[in-house]
Amino acid sequence: MTNLTAGTASASQPLAERSEVGSPAVGAPRLYLAALAIPVAAVALIAVGWSSHWGGVSFAAAMADQRVVVVGPMTLAVLAVILVVERVRPAQVRPLIARGHRQDALYAVLNATMVVPLVVALALSFAAVARRFLGWIVLPPLGFVPRWAVIVLIFVAMDGCNWLAHLANHRVRVLWRFHELHHSQEDMSVLTVFRTHPLIHVSYLIALIPGIVLMANGVVPTMLLVGYAGFVAFEHSNTNLGFGPLERMMVSPNYHRIHHQLDGPQDVNLGFALTIWDQVFHRAVFPTEATIRTDTGLPGRPLVVEQAHGRPHHLATLLGQLWGPFRPIDAVRAVDGGGDDGVGW
Ligand SMILES: [Zn+2]
Ligand SMILES: [Zn+2]
Repeated sequence: MTNLTAGTASASQPLAERSEVGSPAVGAPRLYLAALAIPVAAVALIAVGWSSHWGGVSFAAAMADQRVVVVGPMTLAVLAVILVVERVRPAQVRPLIARGHRQDALYAVLNATMVVPLVVALALSFAAVARRFLGWIVLPPLGFVPRWAVIVLIFVAMDGCNWLAHLANHRVRVLWRFHELHHSQEDMSVLTVFRTHPLIHVSYLIALIPGIVLMANGVVPTMLLVGYAGFVAFEHSNTNLGFGPLERMMVSPNYHRIHHQLDGPQDVNLGFALTIWDQVFHRAVFPTEATIRTDTGLPGRPLVVEQAHGRPHHLATLLGQLWGPFRPIDAVRAVDGGGDDGVGW
């Protein structure tokens, strides 16, 4: 998640995105039309999934599983513990109810209600389409491979696919338009994990492929996915915590904070759980004393943020942020006026 100093362009942002500050030019489109491709793709995929009865999988059962991952008792308990850890060992001192935390709590509610069914519909549809049209990718039962090894393999490959999708989020302009919301948070907390545009999940569907390829050999247990989600949430916490030598394997809060840094490239430290992908592709930047408390957010505030106004206006800001991907190319700053009350909490 990445940039340079305020007012300068981010090295990770697609080139054409860097100049989008100012008023719309006369005759310029009122909409970033390319962004419509994502909701159109989502609707088309879900239509195919729905018409094929979700590939024979129970939608209700899948919903129940996804709810356990996003807001199940274990997830909520983990979030509560991390909220305490953030108070005890903060990277940056923030009030408990900083406006950024309140905004991200809204995203948590949005995820628990509307995003869960959307993600389930997308995932079941993607799996149904893959099995129907790319049936050859599904391996037959491999009797000689133990089930635990299959689960480890799926898990590691899934994390690699998430890394790849995340890189695309930073390199492809239309995807960056949906991903920049996640990077716009200036008051990081564990709840920032929920601060994602609902439609960004389209780009992460490729992470389902390892599970589809090996589905005849094993399935990742829901509780392991709960652990994965909790771990990714923890990385976003406002916690001064590194993992020492273990950081060569696992993403820590100090490691992921560099991905959200205001003053520096954000297309580094793209890993979800494992740092190995960043190391293999030379995108790993390990924490130092200077990075632990670094500011986060996007230089120049290209997207409306809750810290920009004298009063936060959480709901209006939420709607503005969700509309963000579709705003015209050359009218970004007009959304929030570039204002800064100097407090922002
Ligand atoms: Zn992040
Ligand atoms: Zn990112």
